[in-house]
Amino acid sequence: MTDRYASFVQSGAGRALVKRLGLPDPPRLRRYAVGDPLLPGPVLLGAATGGRLADPVAALLTAAGADVRTGTGTAGNGDSAAADGSAGRDEQAGNGGAPAGGGTSARFGALVYDATGITDSSGLRQLYDFFHPQARSVLPSGRVIVLGTPPAECGPAREATAQRALEGLTRSIGKEFGRGVTAQLVYVTPDGDAGTATSLEATLRFLLSGRSAYVSGQVVRVGTGPAAVPADWDRPLAGQVVLVTGAARGIGAAVARVLARDGAQVVALDVPAAGDALAAVANEIGGTAVQLDLTGADAPTRLADHLADRHGRVDVVVHNAGITRDRTLGRMDADRWDAVLDVNLSSQERINDVLLERGLIPEGGRLVAVSSIAGIAGNRGQTNYATSKAGVIGLVDALAPALAGRGISVNAVAPGFIETRLTARIPLVIREAGRRMNSLAQGGLPVDVAETIGWLAWPASAAVSGNVVRVCGQSLLGA
Ligand code: NAD
Repeated sequence: MTDRYASFVQSGAGRALVKRLGLPDPPRLRRYAVGDPLLPGPVLLGAATGGRLADPVAALLTAAGADVRTGTGTAGNGDSAAADGSAGRDEQAGNGGAPAGGGTSARFGALVYDATGITDSSGLRQLYDFFHPQARSVLPSGRVIVLGTPPAECGPAREATAQRALEGLTRSIGKEFGRGVTAQLVYVTPDGDAGTATSLEATLRFLLSGRSAYVSGQVVRVGTGPAAVPADWDRPLAGQVVLVTGAARGIGAAVARVLARDGAQVVALDVPAAGDALAAVANEIGGTAVQLDLTGADAPTRLADHLADRHGRVDVVVHNAGITRDRTLGRMDADRWDAVLDVNLSSQERINDVLLERGLIPEGGRLVAVSSIAGIAGNRGQTNYATSKAGVIGLVDALAPALAGRGISVNAVAPGFIETRLTARIPLVIREAGRRMNSLAQGGLPVDVAETIGWLAWPASAAVSGNVVRVCGQSLLGA
């Protein structure tokens, strides 16, 4: 469904009125189209003294086609990254990588800061020195990314403290910069392998691009894993067999389309009652359709048989199918409770168990589940739904370490307010509040959830596991 207020505000007349009245001002977000440049302008790359990631990041961003600047960040004197990808940390030593001179005339598509060198709280001043002069230099729908070390993997307590502090900076920038600018913190393990580097590249390509339009204020962890560099970053799922449940409409249909666009062979599943819509989606993307009610006792076996017969495996399982049956707890009958828990959580467990037992998910496989911010924040009238969606997060927490040895990653996305039939049914006033109560002042689109699932599904993202990534425009709920 459409957000008429946002369309009005983004028109010339609407803009003027909204500014005068001080009303919410939802910006037009930059969304990905195949062939788009990574960013609308250059990247300003800074590093704290002793940072370990600035040089490799300069190299990978340059390889991704970004115009990487280090140095002052002012027009005419920003240094391009050296051909070897060196971020020029030496020239910045002593000022925390801060642009000298304090000028802000240059405009950047992204600010990327390697904070891994910050080892105690006094070093946090380097963040101020870098970001303060650049607070107004980021282009609309630009990106701010801070790179750190996971606090749990820091030796000294002071280093862990300083690294944990980074989260406050990025979450606040996400709320402050406006105009569709998003901000994220990416923690990268210090014990990285080749897979770490590939997954860091995949993560930065996702976060900097228009694919991450509605993702802000998130913390992503990059560990180790058998990540594979794609032959073509515009088709990062080439050759992958992907199952998408609940694919007949809404978010699931968008997931099927995005994953097919990215090169996957998609098996689209939904209930028999949605057969026509499902067939239309499958035909459109050159995939296949499976009509199956996931709650049926024989559903896991029938699905496993189908995947084994047709494809011999399934590289990526996207557990998207979900239902709501809202009532406050005192008014909720047991059927509503049971139905929601069964579709949203227990059926995922049963299917995972059978596919894993039968070895149909190979090394390098992916499980991506759809949770919800209701599973993080809770929601009045949704005890059943929130329980099921919090359970999905529990499933990620439990399965990610358990399956790491088999090279299978497990992650979830937690959508906030997404414009679908589900949210169209919400009463107007509550719907408007849901739409505006986030840093981007608008609801997300199904494609925003789909792009995030796509990134987690890429072979290049193997070292990203155990994450729950909110696709909520940095909603205030549960933040
Ligand atoms: P939707 O109702 O439009 O689509 C859900 C799909 O799942 C439907 O096609 C439905 O037929 C299918 N499905 C339901 N039960 C099934 C079963 N037993 N077997 C097979 N298929 C079944 O919903 P949506 O808005 O696209 O939501 C997709 C997912 O995203 C859900 O898990 C939902 O909880 C989650 N989510 C949505 C939002 C939002 O704002 N729309 C927010 C947070 C989370």
